[in-house]
Amino acid sequence: MAKIERQHPIEKDPKYRATCFEEVSEGFNEERALIEASRCLNCKNAPCITGCPVNVNIPAFIAKIKEKDYDGAIKVIRKTNNLPAVCGRVCPQESQCEGRCVRLKMEGAVSIGNLERFVADMALKKGTVKSEAVPKIGKKAAIIGSGPAGLTCAADLAAAGVEVTVMEAFHKTGGVLVYGIPEFRLPKLLVQQEIDGLKNLGVNFELNCVVGKTIYLEELLAEYDSVFIGTGAGLPVFLKIDGENLNGVYSANEYLTRINLMNAYKPDSHTPVKKGKNVIVVGAGNVAMDSARTAKRMGAETVKIVYRRSRDEMPARLEEIRHAEEEGIELCLLTNPEKINGDAGWVSSMNCKKMQLGEPDASGRRKPIEIKDSEFEVKCDMVIMAIGTSPNPLLKASCNKLLTTVKGTIITDNETMKTSVDGVYAGGDAVTGAATVILAMGAGKKAAKAMLEYMKIV
Ligand code: FAD
Ligand code: SF4
Ligand code: SF4
Repeated sequence: MAKIERQHPIEKDPKYRATCFEEVSEGFNEERALIEASRCLNCKNAPCITGCPVNVNIPAFIAKIKEKDYDGAIKVIRKTNNLPAVCGRVCPQESQCEGRCVRLKMEGAVSIGNLERFVADMALKKGTVKSEAVPKIGKKAAIIGSGPAGLTCAADLAAAGVEVTVMEAFHKTGGVLVYGIPEFRLPKLLVQQEIDGLKNLGVNFELNCVVGKTIYLEELLAEYDSVFIGTGAGLPVFLKIDGENLNGVYSANEYLTRINLMNAYKPDSHTPVKKGKNVIVVGAGNVAMDSARTAKRMGAETVKIVYRRSRDEMPARLEEIRHAEEEGIELCLLTNPEKINGDAGWVSSMNCKKMQLGEPDASGRRKPIEIKDSEFEVKCDMVIMAIGTSPNPLLKASCNKLLTTVKGTIITDNETMKTSVDGVYAGGDAVTGAATVILAMGAGKKAAKAMLEYMKIV
């Protein structure tokens, strides 16, 4: 077997990109895509497919790239994935499709995500992806929330001829794809193009519609044959330490929403947001990396990520950690925030303790234990909390028949995504708690299949 090194996407220079919101990775050019595609062994049992929650037929689409049949490649991908340009960019491939590639233990897994992005971007540029509305079959479904779970469920139902209406609380569709993940990682124009594909399929969108306030779940059930809940997990979690209510402390969700959805990064924006000089971000997932890299681009001189475990336990995608470090973000590992200090109501510093790792805890990760007398103070004027989110309790509060766990996640059947309310299905972060785009999409697909059965369409 020929030894060919894994190809890497073209990336902007870290010094330049840390000053603007332009997309960091430019992806593969055709030459690199063809070399990378040639590394795929077209394995018969294709373990990579089992690592993809929506079962993209990976060897089949890569085979089309080898033949330079890019339209054919996108057709294969779109059979099971309606957001390939998004997934190619943000899926944690190292723990999904690429994590199971047989080439992983040789010279590195085939770069499936970048190949997927390559064909998806080309199709969007050429306008070769034209979804057309299919004849309606007299059934109606309501989708609550327009994140990846809701959009995927909507696409599959619409493709089967169901009349679909998506209700979204915000004034823009896309969920975290538009309000959370920043422009430099996922350009919003591209998300919009993917959503336009759904509009062409005949999906209706109702914006500024908060189900549980503007309209109730029971009212939707009276009007629609089936309902899907994909409301995500947008409620921020705080550490509950002293000083969290000081001015200059943000939840990552609020900070990123102001900047992404409300355009605070644009010079002509009227959205107020603090531009911290010395910023501390607490947490080590994708949300923390996005917050830190955004703060840097908003002009911060220093940005520190404070995390109580070690590098091995950091949940962020490896690429995001590498990009953050290249851009000058400092990782303060095995460090636990103790309290935030203030001056005249504004953040002035944070007290932290040094930690060491003990035995694994319930999550399977080694438990951080504080080192005695290790407290120290770090000067800062802004703190961003990126330690997790939970589902918003609004829907549950407006419909007590909808059963949830103590953590507020909606209880569903694992296979059908059916909730405790007849005709109502749910998926994505609202069910799992904060997870990933592709898991949310996988749940949207499962639910759509079960909803079609419920409506007696298949
Ligand atoms: P969401 O995307 O949260 O969408 C839910 C939608 O429902 C929202 O638009 C919300 O406004 C709407 N809604 C809520 N309540 C109501 C209501 N009552 N009525 C009407 N509408 C309502 N995952 C990855 O795979 N890779 C990454 O790199 C990555 N980076 C991330 C970075 C950030 C900053 C964040 C916050 C998350 C990131 N994630 C990443 C996680 C991923 O984005 C989520 O797991 C995914 O978006 C969940 O999809 P969803 O459809 O369940 O919910
Ligand atoms: Fe891999 Fe995500 Fe594409 Fe599936 S959708 S093949 S997990 S990049
Ligand atoms: Fe290609 Fe790797 Fe999948 Fe085999 S496991 S088909 S080499 S991508």
